[in-house]
Amino acid sequence: MKFALLAQNHTLYSHQRLKEAAEARGHEMHMIKTLRCYMNIASRRPEIYYNGEKLPLYDAVIPRIGASVTFYGTAVLRQFEMQGVYPLNESVAIGRSRDKLRSMQLLARDGIGLPVTTFAHDPKQTDEVLALAGGAPAVIKLLEGTQGIGVVLADTDRSAKSVIEAFRGANINILVQEFIKEAGSTDIRAFVLGGKVIAAMMRSGAEGEFRSNLHRGGTAKVVKLSPEERATAVRAAKTMGLQVCGVDMLRSNHGPVVMEVNSSPGLEGIEEATGKDIAGMMIEFLEKNAKVGDTKTRGK
Ligand code: ADP
Ligand code: GLU
Repeated sequence: MKFALLAQNHTLYSHQRLKEAAEARGHEMHMIKTLRCYMNIASRRPEIYYNGEKLPLYDAVIPRIGASVTFYGTAVLRQFEMQGVYPLNESVAIGRSRDKLRSMQLLARDGIGLPVTTFAHDPKQTDEVLALAGGAPAVIKLLEGTQGIGVVLADTDRSAKSVIEAFRGANINILVQEFIKEAGSTDIRAFVLGGKVIAAMMRSGAEGEFRSNLHRGGTAKVVKLSPEERATAVRAAKTMGLQVCGVDMLRSNHGPVVMEVNSSPGLEGIEEATGKDIAGMMIEFLEKNAKVGDTKTRGK
């Protein structure tokens, strides 16, 4: 089959692994730089150009769209969808997952466990918002943060208030969340593919760090999920409409709570922690499912 990997940096571990896995199975994998694509939005003839040439029709496209290029990246992916090319994740689902507030609203609607989360526009409502989140200690996070940057633990109401006011004063959107202390600086990443959890790891924060992100010095090891955790991850993926995703959960004393659903989950940490060939499984999924004209939303 002929695949395209839509990404900005093709040297990343995850992208190299996907290319290797596709080629090892006898497929072609074209590495396409997202921001270098340009499009002709002509009536009934959706085209995509790259390096001066029209791209061929692929059997499937693997979108690996970084958070900083969501707007243009989803537009390029949508153009592939207009051509009927099968996307591993659809543009609508990726766009949805990039908005944390929208994601949490949709997950909450479907009854999926979440940390108590509050949000307000006006800094004047700081006291009320903090009280709704249960008061300090509270976690304050940027709506558009990744890799744990912009996630703050405020120990007292006073520090929580000043952090919230500082962000809102600078017109930065934030969520205020109950602090799940019992998670003990760990979180769980369930890797979902095609409605099943295919791998899971537990990440633990570095000494003195409440954030367990690998980018913040955390470490990962394989973990066995409870049936409830597994079901939560699968339901979260379904709500978001993502065929591939990393569902990040905390083990709270009221069951698993979802923090985030990541539509371009990295492969390095999870392949290392579990010893599984995740890239190979993703390619195998495309072999079984990629059909021209078989996208669910076609960008709508
Ligand atoms: P990012 O998307 O930037 O990774 P997260 O929301 O995943 O931000 O938070 C980063 C880390 O901080 C998580 O992996 C987790 O370890 C910790 N964390 C986030 N929210 C909470 C919370 N409400 N309670 C306890 N720990 C949290
Ligand atoms: N129209 C899209 C859908 O229903 C977007 C709606 C949403 O994500 O909330 O899939």
